[in-house]
Amino acid sequence: MRRKLAAGNWKMHGTSASLPQLEALATDHSHAGVEILICPPTPLIWRATQITTGTAIAIGAQDCHAHSEGAHTGDVSAPMLQDAGATHVILGHSERRADHGEDDATVRAKTSAALAQGLIPIVCIGESLEERDTGATLTVLSAQLTGSLPDDAAPDQLVIAYEPIWAIGTGLTPTTDQIAEAHAHMRVELGKRFGADRAEKIRLLYGGSVKPGNAADIFAVQDVDGALVGGASLQANDFSPIITALEAS
Ligand code: PEP
Repeated sequence: MRRKLAAGNWKMHGTSASLPQLEALATDHSHAGVEILICPPTPLIWRATQITTGTAIAIGAQDCHAHSEGAHTGDVSAPMLQDAGATHVILGHSERRADHGEDDATVRAKTSAALAQGLIPIVCIGESLEERDTGATLTVLSAQLTGSLPDDAAPDQLVIAYEPIWAIGTGLTPTTDQIAEAHAHMRVELGKRFGADRAEKIRLLYGGSVKPGNAADIFAVQDVDGALVGGASLQANDFSPIITALEAS
């Protein structure tokens, strides 16, 4: 019922020299059985869409401002991203929460802006290592879900990425039992908020050191509808087997 999603987050990596990676991905996955998304740095979005139009690859952004326009030097709005060809936007990534002081209220406002523009938000939540070690993970996830999602979010237009902060870019991953626990918890919490039927439509991604070697095990976990992938999305040779593992799951 939920379409699986393999999403790549290039973060602040890549110039026009990286664009051939998109051609390679499109060639490898011309008949993709899952949704494939690459979120390059903002200056590459338009050129990326010129390459991927008519292929199975969608292009997204890594952030948007909560307002459509205004005196916000350096920021980019949801209408601008849509105009550039983006269809999705990552919001509330832990790196933005840390680097730019984004809190749940900021993420909620950005999520509303994205939804209003017809962009699919990928809202990131996840615990720190200290929170994991002190047994606070599920409480943290509940609070972030409550705070980061607007009440009127349309479930079929919403993607949540569970990204333990300590697993991002570290090569560490939770056990599959820990991922299963987090995803089951998120599904229950979303059910309380939006109703069980509507919550069933929300896609839940896992993110944090997903690699070709661990992807199949992670995708076998119940309620994992795909992945948000950082480092291993930069090269088609790495991302491609992850997509294939998702298709096989
Ligand atoms: C991310 O940036 O969202 C991420 C999960 O990074 P990595 O796959 O490199 O851990």
